[in-house]
Amino acid sequence: MAVSSSDDKCSNEKGDDSQKDIIYNNNKKRKYYTYSGFAFMLLAVISIAYLATTVHGPFQPPLLFHDSVYNEMEFDGYSGRDVVLVCCSWGEELADGELTYFIGERIITQGRNGLGENVESGTVEAVTKAIQEWDSKVERLTFTEATSRRNADIEIYIRDDGNERAGITKNYYDSHGLITKSYVMVSNGAFGFGFSDSQIEQIAKHEIGHVLGLGHANFDGNLMAIHVNRGSGSISDCEIEAVYKANEWWFEGSSEGRLRYIQTPSTEHIECS
Ligand SMILES: [Zn+2]
Repeated sequence: MAVSSSDDKCSNEKGDDSQKDIIYNNNKKRKYYTYSGFAFMLLAVISIAYLATTVHGPFQPPLLFHDSVYNEMEFDGYSGRDVVLVCCSWGEELADGELTYFIGERIITQGRNGLGENVESGTVEAVTKAIQEWDSKVERLTFTEATSRRNADIEIYIRDDGNERAGITKNYYDSHGLITKSYVMVSNGAFGFGFSDSQIEQIAKHEIGHVLGLGHANFDGNLMAIHVNRGSGSISDCEIEAVYKANEWWFEGSSEGRLRYIQTPSTEHIECS
């Protein structure tokens, strides 16, 4: 397939045989163009197929938000209804109406904890915007940035390990089943493609939904949908209602006084109309 230019030079120097060599070379060239045309087409087909099956293509793979609360069986009994599941409630950390968060400066790379490159400023902004939207939409709740990870209720890290999981949230509970601490991992890409800042913002928003005690939505087009590419990038009234229900001891108390006892949620889902 490879006809180098040195062959052409050689044929020009060959006096009597030059005509024959030129014809021979033209045949070789024709073959070369046919081969390279075919190779180019093949490459184009492979490229299109690859793009079509990645996060930026129309036929996207089932990119999961994987987290501790996800379970295939969790939607049993909700068929025919659009619901967001309610998981858990925060404990006394919420009693002042404030949750503190810390965003790790370094990218977490597989096998190397905290030794990765600095997280890009656009990524930090995207995660911060996600927190701010929750902050502004949920009344009686303020998110405040902590000075160190040790005094943060929520630790958020950006991960770069080529995993197919867009995000992971791990909540920790006390002996009463109340959340005491949350760890969130947001991937900065999947399948070799980097997520855009708006995708990272959406993933962070979904994960903070789990942080605030939500499970998944059993329908597409919702922020809490299990698949990133079938979800929504904005927080709807249904998720806000679900957060109030999850932490009802705090949110549903009268403005004069909260419910007397910190308690786990009294409902397992919120119906979204
Ligand atoms: Zn999730």
